[in-house]
Amino acid sequence: MSYTFENNLEYALSLDDMDILHSYRERFHFPQHEGEDVLYFCGNSLGLQPRSASWLFQKELADWAKYGVEGHFQAENPWMYYHSQFSESLARIVGADVSEVVAMNTLTVNLHLLMISFYRPTATRYKIIMEAGAFPSDQYAIETQVVMHGFNPNEAIIELTPRAGEHCLRDEDILQAIADAGDSLACVMMGAVNYYTGQWFNMPEITKAAHAVGALCGFDLAHAMGNVPMHLHDWDVDFACWCSYKYLNSGPGGVAGIFVHQKHGDNPETFRLAGWWGNEETTRFKMKKGFVPAKGAASWQMSNAPVFNMIAHKSSLDIFDKTSIDTLREKSLLLTAYTEYLLKEVKNLDFEIITPEEPQRRGAQLSLLFKDKGRVVFDYLTENGVVADWREPNVIRIAPVPMYNSFEDVYRFVSLFNTFPG
Ligand SMILES: *Cc1c(COP(=O)(O)O)cnc(C)c1O
Repeated sequence: MSYTFENNLEYALSLDDMDILHSYRERFHFPQHEGEDVLYFCGNSLGLQPRSASWLFQKELADWAKYGVEGHFQAENPWMYYHSQFSESLARIVGADVSEVVAMNTLTVNLHLLMISFYRPTATRYKIIMEAGAFPSDQYAIETQVVMHGFNPNEAIIELTPRAGEHCLRDEDILQAIADAGDSLACVMMGAVNYYTGQWFNMPEITKAAHAVGALCGFDLAHAMGNVPMHLHDWDVDFACWCSYKYLNSGPGGVAGIFVHQKHGDNPETFRLAGWWGNEETTRFKMKKGFVPAKGAASWQMSNAPVFNMIAHKSSLDIFDKTSIDTLREKSLLLTAYTEYLLKEVKNLDFEIITPEEPQRRGAQLSLLFKDKGRVVFDYLTENGVVADWREPNVIRIAPVPMYNSFEDVYRFVSLFNTFPG
C-alpha cells in the first residue's frame, strides 16, 4: 500500500473530511490544555472516557438505591446477567463465537487463571515461549506459574530476542524457535502486539507452529484489543486475555476479559478453577456440592459480576457496536501511515521509528527511539498540550487511535517537532 500524502494542514483537514469516523471523537471527553483539547496519543495506555459513562453510572446508582437486592433482576440492565451483555461485542472484536468470550476480573488475574488451565506441564513437556521484554506483569505471571509447577524459570522459559542490531522479532525466527523447542514445548504465550515496539506478531502462523509441535498457544491481547482485527476462533488460538482500559476505553482498572476456544471451553475435562458464577446457570442457585461448568468461557468466571466496574465498559462497547473493528482498522492504517509520513519529514531531530514499517505487522502505535534529547523533546511536547508516553531510556510511544484521533491531531503533533527550539 502506498499513499501520496501532503505535509500541510489543508491536506490533513481534507482527510478528516473524508473520514466517516471523524465525528466519533465527540463521544469522548478530551483532557484540556489552555482551554483546548489536548493532542491525546496515549490511548494505548488509558483510553479516553466515553461521554455516556457518567449517565450510565448515575443510572446504576439510582437502580441500586431504588431496588436494593431486587436490582439483580429488576434493574434496567439486570445485574444477574450484566456480564453477558458484552459477549456479542467482544466476540465481534476478537473474531470469536459468543460462547468463547466473557468479561471478567482484571488482566493479570485472567492470565493466571488461563495458565492454570492451559499450562499443564509434564516432566518432559514443560517449556514456555514468550517474547523477551514482555510487559513485566506477564513476565512475573509466567515465572511464578513455572515455579508453582516446580520448574526453574531460567530453564523453562524461552525468551525470544531480536537479532543483534534489530528492534523487532522476525517471524521466521519465532517459528524456528517453536520448531526447535519441539516436544519440550508446553505452551506459547506472547503479547499479540508488543507494548514497547508496537510489533504485531503473526498470530495465525505462531498458533499453527505451536500446534505442529503439540503445544498450546495463547496471547495477551492488551495492546491488540480494539486495535487490530483478529480471528481467534478461525486461527485456532487456544486462549487469550485482555484488559479493557487501553484501546477499549473502559476506564482505569476496568473489567478485563478472556477468550477460550470452543474445543476447550465446551470440554468438561478442561481443568478450570471454579467459583459459583462459572457453574451452569440452571443449577447455580441450588447451592449444591459438585461444580458443573457452564458452556464455554463463561465457566471461568468465579464471582458475580462487578457491575460498577463494568459500566464504562458498557458505554464504550456501545460505541464499538456503532462501527466495526474493520472500519476502525481501515482508518487506523491511513492514520498511522500519515503519522509515519509526517515524522519522516522531520529534519531537525534524530530519531528512529522502531515499530515495523509493514502495516500488517503493527497497529495504532509508533515507538520513536531517540539518539539523544528524547526526554527534552517529550517535555516540550507535554508543555504544548501533547499527551504521549515516555519509556526509559529513550523512547516516546504515540498511539494515533482511529476511534477519536483526527488527521489534524497528528498534523499538529508533528508540527511541534518541527518547531522544537533545541
Ligand atoms: C497493560 C498491560 C498489563 C497490565 O495488567 P493489569 O493486570 O491490567 O494491571 C499487563 N500486560 C500487558 C501486556 C499490558 O500491556
